[in-house]
Amino acid sequence: MNLIARFETVFAARADQDVIITDERTWTYGDLGTEVGRYAAALAEAGVSPGDRVVVQVEKSVANVALYLGCLKTGAVYVPVNPGYTTQEVDYFVGDTEPTVFVGENLRDDVTSFSLDGDGKGTMADAAAAASPVTTTVERSADDLAAILYTSGTTGRSKGAQLTHGNLTSNAETLVDYWGWQQDDVLLHALPIFHVHGLFVALHCVFLTGTSLIFQPRFDIDDLLAALPKSTVLMGVPTFYSRLVADDRFTRDACSSMRLFISGSAPLTEQTFEAFEERTGMKILERYGMSETLMNTSNPLDGDRVAGTVGFALPGVEGRITDDEGNVLAANEVGGIEVRGPNVFTGYWRMPEKTAEEFRADGWFKTGDLGVVDDEGRFSIVGREKDLVISGGFNVYPKEVERLIDEMPGVVESAVIGVPHSDFGEAVVAVVVPNGEPIEQAAVDAYLKDHLARYKQPKRVISVEALPRNAMGKVQKKELRDTYEALFS
Ligand code: AMP
Repeated sequence: MNLIARFETVFAARADQDVIITDERTWTYGDLGTEVGRYAAALAEAGVSPGDRVVVQVEKSVANVALYLGCLKTGAVYVPVNPGYTTQEVDYFVGDTEPTVFVGENLRDDVTSFSLDGDGKGTMADAAAAASPVTTTVERSADDLAAILYTSGTTGRSKGAQLTHGNLTSNAETLVDYWGWQQDDVLLHALPIFHVHGLFVALHCVFLTGTSLIFQPRFDIDDLLAALPKSTVLMGVPTFYSRLVADDRFTRDACSSMRLFISGSAPLTEQTFEAFEERTGMKILERYGMSETLMNTSNPLDGDRVAGTVGFALPGVEGRITDDEGNVLAANEVGGIEVRGPNVFTGYWRMPEKTAEEFRADGWFKTGDLGVVDDEGRFSIVGREKDLVISGGFNVYPKEVERLIDEMPGVVESAVIGVPHSDFGEAVVAVVVPNGEPIEQAAVDAYLKDHLARYKQPKRVISVEALPRNAMGKVQKKELRDTYEALFS
């Protein structure tokens, strides 16, 4: 049940076929398989045994893909971390997972560390290049962990979502089938690979089917437009699509080879969906998932893709809407979205109490999203229980930002919210109560620079006399969002 064993059957059968195409070179399945074997050897040499964690904080690259697959091959648990995180932020993930090896630019004292590649000696890439590829793949059961993805709560404390080989395998098989993967598909890959979307959804669909992908280091509109005529499928966050429709070069002709545009990780606005359809004659297929559950719902490949909805529960996945007590609500009533199925994670790493809180006794997982299901079984997300901000497809947990702003001299308190932004989906805005002069944006920028990844830093800072609160003393974030709704329009 080791996921990579499934891929390796494909790798062997397609050894001479192209799998990863970058600007620099094209990798065949044979090349990739050898590289994975080398990384598995290098990891084993560094002391990694089955079940050990490997924390990886690197920029997107083919070596990164091989390292991920090499982890699976040794039976290790892969823990990807956003390369934008500061050392302070990474301290927590390393302390929590106690990895055997850390791979990243900022070498650490507390664990065996390697940089991935680069000029330095003793990198993971050097070790892999010097190693003979491992041929054996460690056996894993469906319940064994393959990866831990860090997500967070409004308390600001990150939680590690434990994903098993069974979770990853079943979701990949379902998606390949549901999205009608074809033998001549070429996936245009411009997403990061430290997150569920680019790492699991995108790569697994390709590796399971023996198809190929054009691998771009990041979203760049010029590069994306250049590669479109050679591609058939694009997976993107809504920002990709709002930027494409804002570009005159993006025409019907430009995407004549494309059969499918998929969007997820954040809400796709109806305006973008419609503008896209008007421009291309094609409807974006929106789906819904999360780190804890992989993909839950999707609009159909054939049949109506409805703007503002995230489609039907995927085959094998159950979805329902409940009230606070867990009673199942009728169609069109808003409540919490719950899911159950082979895609749903086994719990939060070393947080049994948090895990117990988020699961019902019969296995339903409370996603924390609010939504409705219509009479046909189509889900729509109407909001988030937690006041999560999603900017450019990345989650920003307000509490984490607020805590830091509140530390600043001259700040009484703060509330961080997300407001609509045509490019990022949502922009982070900090509403701050000063105890004297208004707080300048530049002061906040300077203070947060070394503490927080850039995308989490507020795009606007507003000083107010007081925050709106309810009778229970809770800050009314909805009211703030309404007040500043048009800040970027
Ligand atoms: P993450 O764990 O980073 O993938 O974030 C998961 C969260 O992103 C979900 O719980 C949703 O709140 C949000 N999300 C993902 N896909 C969609 C979508 N299609 N529409 C609206 N929100 C989404």
